[in-house]
Amino acid sequence: SITNHLPTAELQALDAAHHMHPFTANGGLAQKGARVITSGNGVMLTDSEGAQILDAMAGLWCVNIGYGREELADVAARQMRELPFYNTFFQTTHTPVIALAAKLAELAPGDLNNVFFAGSGSEANDTNIRMVRHYWAMQGKPQKSVIISRKNAYHGSTVGSGSLGGMSGMHAQGGLPIPDIHHINQPNWWSEGGEMSPEDFGRARAQELEQAILDLGEDRVAAFIAEPVQGAGGVIVAPDSYWPEIQRICDKYEILLIADEVICGFGRTGEWFGSQTLNIRPDVMTIAKGLSSGYAPIGGSIVSDEIASVIAQDEFNHGYTYSGHPVASAVALENLRILEEEDIVGHVRNIAAPYLQEKWQALTEHPLVGEAKMVGLMGSIALTPDKSARVPFKAEAGTVGYICRERCFANNLIMRHVGDRMIVSPPLVIQPDEIDLLIERAWKSLDECHSELRKEG
Ligand code: PLP
Repeated sequence: SITNHLPTAELQALDAAHHMHPFTANGGLAQKGARVITSGNGVMLTDSEGAQILDAMAGLWCVNIGYGREELADVAARQMRELPFYNTFFQTTHTPVIALAAKLAELAPGDLNNVFFAGSGSEANDTNIRMVRHYWAMQGKPQKSVIISRKNAYHGSTVGSGSLGGMSGMHAQGGLPIPDIHHINQPNWWSEGGEMSPEDFGRARAQELEQAILDLGEDRVAAFIAEPVQGAGGVIVAPDSYWPEIQRICDKYEILLIADEVICGFGRTGEWFGSQTLNIRPDVMTIAKGLSSGYAPIGGSIVSDEIASVIAQDEFNHGYTYSGHPVASAVALENLRILEEEDIVGHVRNIAAPYLQEKWQALTEHPLVGEAKMVGLMGSIALTPDKSARVPFKAEAGTVGYICRERCFANNLIMRHVGDRMIVSPPLVIQPDEIDLLIERAWKSLDECHSELRKEG
């Protein structure tokens, strides 16, 4: 390509001139160009200046098997030669999508045996909105259309999925949310628990679901959607009391439970799905990201036999050109084969997560770090000027997180910040020596952030 041999500064100038980055104040890129990533191997990325960056975010929480797996490239090339595209609308199908759907039915818990494919997690959640409403309408209950979600949740960026999400910054732009989406509070004990014990707080936050159902009317609520562990909201791990109470309430009022497994799925929490780690029984699971380890864009909704049988009674007027795309399906299937044959989920549970969790917990000895949380290989730390009072910094929320993230980036470690929380979610194949390097770079960056703050007083 024409850009292959351009120097970094020229690439950055072209990028700033023509490429609109998602979730970015693009104006800033003219002054400070974006880093140009050129290749990846395992947990490491290389940029156009040759720097070796440890990607502790697995891209966007998705490169579960790590970078550079040739098998996926081979499968994609083979499938492109054989059948690059055919649709799954009406009465046609193809072998990659058949095999992938059957494999997912085998892996998914309970009677979640039916997959509706999409091109992304956002599209899959749009499917969910329409499908659960249609499910109730098919049973003579069209008024059952409200979906309850949580503040600070992230479920995607389309109009539907962005409405399901509870990010105030997103709702402030473009006229979200659509009608009949309701948000309750998130179970973030560190920031919002006040004097309550974590367990009391978790129960109280779950009971907000019951209150919302009673306020909105039992006969109007179709579903509750949540990430088993809230990811983009800051890796918010609910107290142990939370999920059993949520499950009880969904059962009692016959509300469908949608587990958004886009981040938690495919090994991230140490089981195939976060729902298994947290012992919940969803009626619908949203999947994407780790389904293909990000090697191809693909997502989907896995639904129970009960929902599928009701939907099957009529034509469901919904679908995407790329629903069950053959190349993406073949790549996803190969990714699942690698996850399974190399027992990568077992590696998370038995080796990587215990090793990282111990060192992660030790970060609370750093003067800037309050709580440290981790489930499987997704974790966060809260940055705070006062650990015992659990208070945020006086500066605008996110400023300290941003400084810390910039220090990490300069030290060739990719971590993310959400407000004043720092996040990790590395490729699941990460090895102990790479975890040592991650922690070493994180400590160094935290120290630098700390001295920068002291300089500023
Ligand atoms: N759901 C969750 C929990 C997510 O974290 C994301 C993306 O980060 C999405 C849905 C949206 O997925 P996509 O970006 O593939 O549309």
